[in-house]
Amino acid sequence: MIDRRDFVLAAGAAIAATATGLPAAAQDTGRKIGYAIVGLGGYGLGVIIPQFKNCQHSKLVALVSGDPAKARRVAAEYGVPERGIYNYQNYDSIKDNPDIDVVYVCLPVSMHAEYTIRAAQAGKHVLCEKPMAVSSAECEQMIAACRKAGKKLMIGYRCHFEAYNLEAIRRARAGDIGKLRYFRSEHGFVAGNPNAWRLKKAMSGGGSLMDIGIYALQAARYMTGEEPVAVFAHEQTDRNDPRFREVEDMIQFQLEFPSGVIGSCMSMYSANQNHVLLMGDKGRIELEPGTSYSGNRLWVGRGRENEITPPPGPGATQWAGQLDHMAQCIVSNREPIVAGEEGLRDIRIIEAIYQSARERRRITLRA
Ligand code: NAD
Repeated sequence: MIDRRDFVLAAGAAIAATATGLPAAAQDTGRKIGYAIVGLGGYGLGVIIPQFKNCQHSKLVALVSGDPAKARRVAAEYGVPERGIYNYQNYDSIKDNPDIDVVYVCLPVSMHAEYTIRAAQAGKHVLCEKPMAVSSAECEQMIAACRKAGKKLMIGYRCHFEAYNLEAIRRARAGDIGKLRYFRSEHGFVAGNPNAWRLKKAMSGGGSLMDIGIYALQAARYMTGEEPVAVFAHEQTDRNDPRFREVEDMIQFQLEFPSGVIGSCMSMYSANQNHVLLMGDKGRIELEPGTSYSGNRLWVGRGRENEITPPPGPGATQWAGQLDHMAQCIVSNREPIVAGEEGLRDIRIIEAIYQSARERRRITLRA
């Protein structure tokens, strides 16, 4: 297991590795790590696939899609060979394709566990999107399957490779705002189509918290560098709204950290917000937006008088940093800084948040 201290050190090491060049093994072979993208939807096709052009150590070699015409079109556009086109029926035959090192799972959440476990059984490393799975039990199975196969498992927490977030973490650790006291974050967007998989509990595992509130939870953990010891939550959902028959809209949760820092987070499917604020006894670190694809902004000081432009992150973009980090971990046999255990930790806390909202009481978390 990677603990928080290891993570901070690992994050620094990831940046250092990029700044000082490649690990020796990668320099020796010069071969780029091959990725198969599973799920050509908004994120897999719209965001991840176009990022390979920004990568130094990663390349796109295969696609897994239920739509053959789409797969052929995308393959032609991105130079994926015919032998790299798969569907959900012949997915397991990726084991016979040596071009594929990593499977990147960009599917609805309820499919993450199955496609991760099958990838590991086919002898492939896995990068799986967030949230890791619909339950902590599934997360544990995913970790066990990858461990059994001797393969790496990383979760798609892109903010760990994003320059503004890394600079905010660095400044919090360096004591720029003194002793940390209070963390606040609101994350939300307006959910649309009531039939989308995100609003079906069996496919999403939950509502706004699983999908977007998880960014607030993640930020609370990486900004403070601590693990919460207890949660208290309150949910507010209009169950007559056709979008929210199965999943929550608003859920507010408080996190208690061992140092005495309090985290206060709001997750929403009915308003657009993306904000992170960390207060210390000597100042504040604020990001707004904080975890967006682009346009993030950072202020450090007493208010918003001192806007910071951070040094570049580990990759040309947060996604290139993420894809190349996995590639470098494979080449140099290191654990990813956001390994499966990190995804499991979030899902365990999310389960406690849901329990707290349901039972209207404070829930303590296992150490
Ligand atoms: P999407 O609905 O746009 O795409 C899902 C893909 O899965 C589609 O290609 C769809 O055809 C395929 N699929 C296969 N079987 C399916 C089924 N039974 N039902 C529905 N779709 C099926 O979703 P998305 O926004 O691309 O999200 C995919 C994953 O990426 C999710 O885990 C999501 O949380 C994650 N995501 C992460 C970020 C990020 O910033 N890290 C952003 C968006 C989405």
